[in-house]
Amino acid sequence: CPKGVAVRRRRIQGAVLLGVAVLALGLVLVAWLGPQSLERQRLLLGTFVQVKAYGADPEALERAVADAIAEVERVGQAFSRVGPGALGALNRAAPGEAMALPQEVWDLLERAQALGAQSGGAFDVKLGALADLWGFAEDWDGTGRVPDQAEIDAFLAAPRGLELLPGGRARRLGAATIDLGAIAKGHAVDRAIAVLRQHAVQAGLVNAGGNVRVFGQVPEPVLFWSVPRPFQVGVQHPRRPGEVLGGLTLEAGQGVATSGDYQRYFEADGLRHHHVLDPRTGRPARGLISSTVVAPTATEADALSTATFVLGPQAGLALVEALPGVEAVLVDADGRIWVSSGLDAARFTF
Ligand code: AMP
Ligand code: MG
Repeated sequence: CPKGVAVRRRRIQGAVLLGVAVLALGLVLVAWLGPQSLERQRLLLGTFVQVKAYGADPEALERAVADAIAEVERVGQAFSRVGPGALGALNRAAPGEAMALPQEVWDLLERAQALGAQSGGAFDVKLGALADLWGFAEDWDGTGRVPDQAEIDAFLAAPRGLELLPGGRARRLGAATIDLGAIAKGHAVDRAIAVLRQHAVQAGLVNAGGNVRVFGQVPEPVLFWSVPRPFQVGVQHPRRPGEVLGGLTLEAGQGVATSGDYQRYFEADGLRHHHVLDPRTGRPARGLISSTVVAPTATEADALSTATFVLGPQAGLALVEALPGVEAVLVDADGRIWVSSGLDAARFTF
């Protein structure tokens, strides 16, 4: 009868409305509980530090990002070559005088020595006095000076050593002033990633002035859910500020760093004098204008990007090819791009 039909229709309408309401509530919950992201940026270590975290709990994201930024700041201070920390003290101690160092500092010095040996001496943390000769102080003010050849020769002729002694002690020898500027940012990034991992967050990225490491994968929203996709980072074009040379797809946990002649430099006599110094000549390295290295950690990526920059395209690529899990994108002085064998089109596009 017509009355029965109307009742059934109303029941169906009611059921549909209830269904829609339940679905809408479900979607709101998914959106609310699903992964969110938080990004903060700070000026630290004379550079731009960026921390990003993904996770479901906004308070955990806040705490994780704040703690990671604090860790970058702590490491930056601990590894200053002139500051009140252990490294500054080692540099102020008389040559030959053994000093006890915090384990973290001793360990990074040991890592730096090993990478120095692997690079055939191109990576050298004993060049602090040479950086000063060129005016590249730690808190660089944008200016510089070209030293006389006699000053450079005197620096090159003086013996320089760093001895790591048992019991966490170390001493500098001769004219060595220890400068961890080419590896400490990477270490700071690794430490900050370790801090992010201690919090209830799903994935994250830390970038300290072009020294990057990621953990996990980006939860990408797809319809009402999220699927993980790898982190992607742009490689800065060395001659076009704000433009990328290409894009790198990172595997979970990887680090990547770029050294370039466009980061800290001054011009004199029509030449660009930048801050990555070749220990063989005592002058800015000339073979490359940019070197990007992907490695299992940010510490290695940082040190190896500087090392390859000094070595130039052939020797730089040979070093990278000899190291497992390490890849590179180099740009030489003529603008030619050199890509290591492990970076196929899926991992580097340009
Ligand atoms: P990066 O930006 O990581 O390539 O590091 C450059 C910084 O490392 C410079 O500002 C110096 O403090 C220091 N440095 C310069 N030349 C060298 C070198 N050949 N080996 C190690 N550290 C270096
Ligand atoms: Mg470096």
